[in-house]
Amino acid sequence: MQTSFTPEQLKDPDTRESNGILRTCVHCGFCTATCPTFVLLGDELDSPRGRIYLIKDMLESGRPATAEVVKHVDRCLSCLSCMTTCPSGVHYMHLVDHARRYIEETYERPWPERMLRRMLGMVLPYPARFRAALLGARLGRPFGGLIPGASMTGQRLRAMLGLAPGAVPPPSPMQHPQVHKAKGERRGRVALLTGCAQQVLAPSINEATIRLLTRMGIEVVITREQGCCGALSHHMGHHDPAMRLARANIAAWSREIEGEGEGLDAVVINASGCGTTVKDYGHMFREEPAPWKQRAEKVAALAMDISEVLTKSATPPRARRPA
Ligand code: SF4
Ligand code: SF4
Repeated sequence: MQTSFTPEQLKDPDTRESNGILRTCVHCGFCTATCPTFVLLGDELDSPRGRIYLIKDMLESGRPATAEVVKHVDRCLSCLSCMTTCPSGVHYMHLVDHARRYIEETYERPWPERMLRRMLGMVLPYPARFRAALLGARLGRPFGGLIPGASMTGQRLRAMLGLAPGAVPPPSPMQHPQVHKAKGERRGRVALLTGCAQQVLAPSINEATIRLLTRMGIEVVITREQGCCGALSHHMGHHDPAMRLARANIAAWSREIEGEGEGLDAVVINASGCGTTVKDYGHMFREEPAPWKQRAEKVAALAMDISEVLTKSATPPRARRPA
């Protein structure tokens, strides 16, 4: 595939990388069969190959994003199913992340959509705000019919009200900053990403993770000042907020890694989308000055999904806590 980025465009590290990614797509179409949006909608432009074509055209021409490109890139779920299918090793994730940032910088969405996206970015990553919003949604649900349903934004707002759970579990004290001691002999020490929306909607997931790890003899640290991994903002193309959230996590875990604490064997994540983002911190911070670039690389190298911890551990969890 020939690409024709201008020398000016190629100064941008993201564009340089996208150029490389675009070159590796051989248009074989293997990815289409595993793409849920293509399977559902049957439109080539809602397949990975179609989106790569649209992104290539947008970046090569240097033109601002069009409504058509935005529609098809917005429909991508970032499930990354296409990446495990691709025989050519196309790094679709980095490509679509770059495209989303480019869209935010060059395309003006209708104002209700801009407001909705801004509101999501200001609420979802922050557990206290998200909890308050869920309680508000519960109270507001009977009035959902008053939201005008003609526009896409109105339909989305109604759908969100419909999705709000009927009851929100109380906050779990296990998720507060603290050290959960290993049961029996200590075999390892990890930090747990307690996250944002999940800790409000289903705190039992973090609680179960902590119980499981400590029973395996692994000490679990919940660090101060960690929070959302940044994926939500990153996937909306909101670069600065995403970097701010990621930086806070990197700072929190680096304090443990570099001396304030007792070191870490891993950073454990129990939400796969968050894990994908934390593992990509090295890439997100690749152009940042020292020590952030190095810290981000270190954190990314330590990031492990809870399932990886279990499969790699030589010590199966004990069924019962020791007396
Ligand atoms: S499978 Fe990979 S190489 Fe083939 S069309 Fe999809 S992205 Fe391109
Ligand atoms: S990441 Fe997007 S393009 Fe790839 S399979 Fe999922 S929905 Fe399709």
